[in-house]
Amino acid sequence: METVGPNRARLLEDPLVARLASGEETSWFRGELEPAAEALRRSSLPAGLVEDARQRFRRFAPWFAQRFEQTRTSDGIIESPLHRAPALQARMEELCRAQLPGKLWVKRDDMLPVSGSIKARGGFHEVLQVVEQIIDEACPDASGQGPRVLEDPAVTDTLRERGIAVGSTGNLGLSIGLLSAEFGLRTTVHMSTDARPWKKDLLRDRGVEVIEHPGDFGTAVEAGRAAAQADPLTHFVDDESSLSLFAGYAVAARRLAGQLQALEVTVGEGSPLFVYLPCGVGGGPGGVAYGLKQVFGEHVHCIFAEPTLAPSMMLGVRTGLHSEVSVQDIGLSGRTTADGLAVGRPSRLVGEQVGGLIDGFVTVADQRMSALVSILGQTEGWKVEPSATAGVIGPWRVMEDPAYLEARGLDERAMAGAHHVVWSTGGSMVPADEMAGYLDQGRQALSFFSQ
Ligand SMILES: *Cc1c(COP(=O)(O)O)cnc(C)c1O
Repeated sequence: METVGPNRARLLEDPLVARLASGEETSWFRGELEPAAEALRRSSLPAGLVEDARQRFRRFAPWFAQRFEQTRTSDGIIESPLHRAPALQARMEELCRAQLPGKLWVKRDDMLPVSGSIKARGGFHEVLQVVEQIIDEACPDASGQGPRVLEDPAVTDTLRERGIAVGSTGNLGLSIGLLSAEFGLRTTVHMSTDARPWKKDLLRDRGVEVIEHPGDFGTAVEAGRAAAQADPLTHFVDDESSLSLFAGYAVAARRLAGQLQALEVTVGEGSPLFVYLPCGVGGGPGGVAYGLKQVFGEHVHCIFAEPTLAPSMMLGVRTGLHSEVSVQDIGLSGRTTADGLAVGRPSRLVGEQVGGLIDGFVTVADQRMSALVSILGQTEGWKVEPSATAGVIGPWRVMEDPAYLEARGLDERAMAGAHHVVWSTGGSMVPADEMAGYLDQGRQALSFFSQ
């Protein structure tokens, strides 16, 4: 079905959009953004959204600890460590020929237990919410008892009759599939044909039905939505507009605040926090940014990082067209090798609700992400997938924009006290041979930094 998109020539009148269309790396920092408190007030998201999600994860923590051995040390709470990255910082300073004042950190969502990517936050939360709804319907008396009722045969039988479906480039399908299969739900994942074979194999191994569709992510989502709508017992996880996914991601903000506090890192006037978030459809980074602005207000700067081939959120926010515009409308393919980020059209929900909270955008070439996989491996010994590296260049791009720093009142002293947190969004599930391939390609792409 061919729909008529916005007029390309019109879009290209904006020099920034023209630069996006050229495929060149681009940055856009918004010095004039309205204060976070006001943007939050204007958003129509429910007030208790994030707290509600946090409590849901707590209720299920005993279940996670019981079912997934690797979550026992954290008592069933799904969280990743925050690591300082001094070797990475030094190497990047060399490669970018620019010193970075302040400290570089990496938030290691590549290490999140069970599914190894940021999708464990949003994806798991939506599965838990669906399971709770099913429990409430099947056993109204058990309501509020938490996951103990999952041992009740009436509940397990009902779960087996119900289904979850999702359309995904990979990691969301992996997170939803692994968890919902553990609950005994019928699970269907719609993927594009070019999604990584190992992800499909792993899911099929766990009894998940994987349906492949030619075309991109959007096609897989559409097909999934249509199939689920035809089946009233199946819940469809809609990556393009799900509030439940969003809430699950947002819980990360309070957890990060707790980690910073435990490390005696203060965030405030003389010590701003910068967070760099790889962005696909926008739910993950949008949720995290929303949560962070609630906690840190003006003192946190949320920068989204997208591939040059698929800068969907930057295009949507810049034009104000949000999900009404796609990167194909400006002649880009959307086909990046960073699979988690290969999205042509941004989330409706995030563009409209969170667009005003995003402080900046950077686009990153596939070659650079590939090189960064190798750089992270060499400097810190961390193995991450290409998408996970999109934010690493962010701090150097910020430092190249004195107008932004000035507009935000960030002088040299403040930047010397800055904390730059790069969100590393996935990696630990990637099979060893596949990772060896990424590292190999990365070494060959290293020269990209000297161009
Ligand atoms: C999904 C994903 C992202 C981005 O999340 P969106 O909600 O699609 O914006 C980033 N990195 C990885 C590895 C992902 O799988």
